[in-house]
Amino acid sequence: MPRPLVATIDIAALRHNLAVARKCAPASRILAVVKANAYGHGLTRALRGFADADGLGLIEPEGAIELRQFGWTKRIVLLEGFFDEADLQTVIDFELDTVVHSLAQLDLLEKLQPGRQDAQIDVHLKVNSGMNRLGFMPAECSAIWKRLRALPFVRDIGFVTHFANAEEGDHPVLPPSEQARRFMAATGDLSGMRSLSNSAADLLHPEFAVDWVRPGVMLYGATPAERTAASFDLRPAMTLQTEVIGIQQIAAGDAVGYGSRFVAERPMAIGVVACGYADGYPRHAPDGTPILVDGIRTRVVGRVSMDMITVDLTPIPYARIGSKVTLWGEGLPIDEVANAAGTVGYELMCAIMPRVRVVEIGD
Ligand SMILES: *Cc1c(COP(=O)(O)O)cnc(C)c1O
Repeated sequence: MPRPLVATIDIAALRHNLAVARKCAPASRILAVVKANAYGHGLTRALRGFADADGLGLIEPEGAIELRQFGWTKRIVLLEGFFDEADLQTVIDFELDTVVHSLAQLDLLEKLQPGRQDAQIDVHLKVNSGMNRLGFMPAECSAIWKRLRALPFVRDIGFVTHFANAEEGDHPVLPPSEQARRFMAATGDLSGMRSLSNSAADLLHPEFAVDWVRPGVMLYGATPAERTAASFDLRPAMTLQTEVIGIQQIAAGDAVGYGSRFVAERPMAIGVVACGYADGYPRHAPDGTPILVDGIRTRVVGRVSMDMITVDLTPIPYARIGSKVTLWGEGLPIDEVANAAGTVGYELMCAIMPRVRVVEIGD
């Protein structure tokens, strides 16, 4: 018998969340972001859940090849572009769009002699509008655009930038409105499609939804915003569930797990749950992190170990070996677990390990 730990991926939820993204930006095309194995949900599942998207965006060239092999014929954008000459050949061979964010990439493009006479590449010029991660400074953009425009195999040139603080409209250091202003000023005279918005901007700032939006995490049912995902009508696409595999009755003063972090104040039942940090559950989850046993909310107590978590069974006196446990997803928002563990929903969903069985529903 396999371990009871299962990640259920709901294809219908992916589809629904894509529709929410579209409703937020009805005049824009949607580039559904599927990097990091579709935020842990699997590329083939994302492909079906996002069949209605106008394109898919990701970081990994090998993932882009898989998407083509799985039959995706619409646009695929490499969000960090190509990493070397071999990747650039992949861009050509698999008809990918590429971001160009650096002079090194531009140099490689200028040296390129496409083997195929008819090779055409759509590029997206990345503008550094203040996040200072990738991209050209606003003042450089028109010169870079001219160099790209001079290349015979470059077809369309679009413009992209990325928000540092889209979930905080009035961020004191770098509000999204300031990034949008710099981006528009840098690209104002140049023709080409524009794209600014990630999930937070798509949900909170419809004014930045121009030609394309690039939602990621919202499509999987989490949100970077302060509000809950449910309040945006987003549905969890991943539910991580397992079972109680052991129960210990402990006395006041008894401790639980490595480091004896949790010490009982009164006699209580401890449930031992089959899921640990080697499955992707955050090791830093403190005592009190929410978890459901038989649908009842309780708390993690004691340190998370590699294969097990220990939980307080006080609110579920009828719990037994085999009681169902929900780590996150349906009934327990991943954002809530992430907050308790000092991280973000993104990290939890991406961290799901290969040994976790995956089951699909909703297709
Ligand atoms: C990951 C990513 C996104 C999606 O961001 P979310 O916050 O998950 O919506 C959008 N654009 C780029 C360039 C990205 O790398």
